Amino acid sequence: MPKQENGQKEDSVIQNDLSESFGEEVRAFLGDEEKLHLFDDLTKVNPVTTTTVLKCLQARYRVNLFYTNAGCSLVALNPFQPVSCLYSPELMREYHGALRPQDLKPHIFAVAEQTYRNVQSQREPVNQSIIVSGESGAGKTWTSRCLMKFYASIAASVISPKANETVERIEKRVLDSNPVMEAFGNACTLRNNNSSRFGKYIQLQLDRSHHLSSASIQTFLLEKTRVAYQAPNERNFHIFYQITKGATAEERLEWNLPEGADFRWLPNSERNLDEDCFEVTRDAMFHLGIDRSTQNNIFKVLSGLLHLGNIQFSNPVDEAQPCELEDKTKDFVKTAGDLLKIPVEELLESLRIRTITAGKQQQIFKKPCSRAECETRRDCLAKAIYAKLFEWLVLVINESIYADPSAWTSFIGLLDVYGFEAFPENSLEQLCINYANEKLQQHFVAHYLKAQQEEYAAEGLQWSFINYQDNQNCLELIEANPLSIFSLLNEECRLNRPSNTDLFQTRIEKALSNNQCLSRNKFSKEPNFIISHYAGKVCYQLAAMVEKNKDPIPPELVNVLQNSKDPLLQKLFPVAEGNQNNIKTQNRAAVVTVVSKFKGSLEHLMQLVNSTTPHYIRCIKPNAGCKAMTFQREEVLSQLQACGIVEAITISAAGFPVRIPFQSFTERYEILRKPCPSNKNRVCDTSNHHTAKNKGEAPAEGDAEASRSVIVEILRNVVTGQTAA
Ligand code: ATP
Ligand code: MG
Repeated sequence: MPKQENGQKEDSVIQNDLSESFGEEVRAFLGDEEKLHLFDDLTKVNPVTTTTVLKCLQARYRVNLFYTNAGCSLVALNPFQPVSCLYSPELMREYHGALRPQDLKPHIFAVAEQTYRNVQSQREPVNQSIIVSGESGAGKTWTSRCLMKFYASIAASVISPKANETVERIEKRVLDSNPVMEAFGNACTLRNNNSSRFGKYIQLQLDRSHHLSSASIQTFLLEKTRVAYQAPNERNFHIFYQITKGATAEERLEWNLPEGADFRWLPNSERNLDEDCFEVTRDAMFHLGIDRSTQNNIFKVLSGLLHLGNIQFSNPVDEAQPCELEDKTKDFVKTAGDLLKIPVEELLESLRIRTITAGKQQQIFKKPCSRAECETRRDCLAKAIYAKLFEWLVLVINESIYADPSAWTSFIGLLDVYGFEAFPENSLEQLCINYANEKLQQHFVAHYLKAQQEEYAAEGLQWSFINYQDNQNCLELIEANPLSIFSLLNEECRLNRPSNTDLFQTRIEKALSNNQCLSRNKFSKEPNFIISHYAGKVCYQLAAMVEKNKDPIPPELVNVLQNSKDPLLQKLFPVAEGNQNNIKTQNRAAVVTVVSKFKGSLEHLMQLVNSTTPHYIRCIKPNAGCKAMTFQREEVLSQLQACGIVEAITISAAGFPVRIPFQSFTERYEILRKPCPSNKNRVCDTSNHHTAKNKGEAPAEGDAEASRSVIVEILRNVVTGQTAA
């Protein structure tokens, strides 16, 4: 779990804490410090404890070994600095060309290559997923990018000149999607300068000959509130800084972005980040088919949003009148209107006047909004435009990398969602982000820790059950029907009553008090609830949560956007046929809450992931401050404990690493078949799956030589992990 920056213990202090808790056996193991870094597979560490695993990882980190195998997962430690040759094209070729990539040093390329070979082997399920997990700043996006580069390099190495033509285009476009999506969807947070504010699952689609033929990207819930609100010391999405820093003199004039202009929604712009590279984004957009004039249009709209953010309202002298505009902000309204191609009067009316339909005749009344309501509307307008723009970009990217499903036969999916996070203030965004991480953790637990042990039990193998932290309770607290945090949030939205967060807090406590994962910070004056996540406790503030879940867009705002003369806004907010300017119809639009939508899309994703063979990369953030080559044990320890990696290693170490379907086993090891006592010509019928370590039938007398070679082959497979499911 991320620690508060100022509450950190120094490395040496933690070392003492740990050594006191070492048992004899562990001490003996730790005594051989010289060799610790040689453990490139944590299942070989003996005994497997959090402490021994931690020691090994630290020893390896010290000598620049950032990847370590851990049973079914690969542990990836973030060096927080570029490491030369770690991702070079030569290394990619080495892993791709290796007879047995698992014989090489642990690396994300070994996982990528194994995944690719799994597709080639056509063993069910043919489709594969690489699930990259870890907390915010651990290195998931970096890892996903490197994996994509690896697959792009395989694609580029295809020899056929004709294939090369398509392949090159596709792989380049797939890679170009990264800078664009990161510019619009990532931002600098307290935890990570390049934090993903959306989730992403990219399918790399392969044709019959296993060549990259196309791709598709699915995204999840962009944190759009960031457009209009940035927590202290955080920033808006990178793209806003890119345009304000990287625009040419003419563009500055056209977009109304004078050098040094002060925008409220552009905090901390004095900080220059590597991510502020406008040129890279522009070029990538161009390669993805977004021409310069459309780009110009996009950046103009973004500049319009910045001007919108500077509009401030003040209370009117006469309450029956609309809010006044603060003098200094009048120019901003005009510029925002110009840039968004909305007449200023219309823009102001949509921000300051509410339309109410009432009475039997459904008459329309106009009512001035309070100052707070005007501000909410201003923010809402910006969020709506930005979210639609992001959605549209994903669509355009998908169109440019799309191929008809008949053109591909299998896929490798890469999952990179926003990492677990706990800030001083947490709201609906963090609840959704942490819920997504709980879902991934559940997948890992269900797929590996639980399923594997249950399979052993079902096959009647001798096995002492290894306990692990199940997060089912926590997930039930968040998402279960009929009673959970989500269902209570939805209920509040449905009833549409004025939000009273104190009452809502009491309601949550009453309804869910029997779930041990729920508690409350009693010392806080703000209504809140605490969830004990697998990665630690997070306190969520209830203020604004219900409103965020409703996420309403006032119909007047939709109207004004639909009437804009700007070609991009017209594309983003098309007028539904027969619905032009019809506020009454828009008022009645069914409301699907944010959490319901998010839950639905995550469930859909998990179904897709469940239909694939999973591979796990566990990214670990070795220090909270993102400092280069700094390993803070307490930080790493809490991440190791939280994600269940030690239990996974224990199960792998004690378990049966080779699992071959019975059919393949008998076909492959024909010679081992032992006739049934009753019928010498029939093979004994056993369960569907065989665990090689236990169930291989003994060879017939006289077949000793043959069986020896078979055993050698099995052992070789065990070592290389080639046949491991
Ligand atoms: P979030 O959940 O916030 O999106 P994340 O897990 O995606 O976080 P990244 O953005 O991938 O985290 O990594 C954070 C930073 O760590 C990167 O911007 C980069 O500077 C550094 N980093 C990550 N992995 C590596 C690596 N393998 N080598 C060098 N630097 C790295
Ligand atoms: Mg990320």
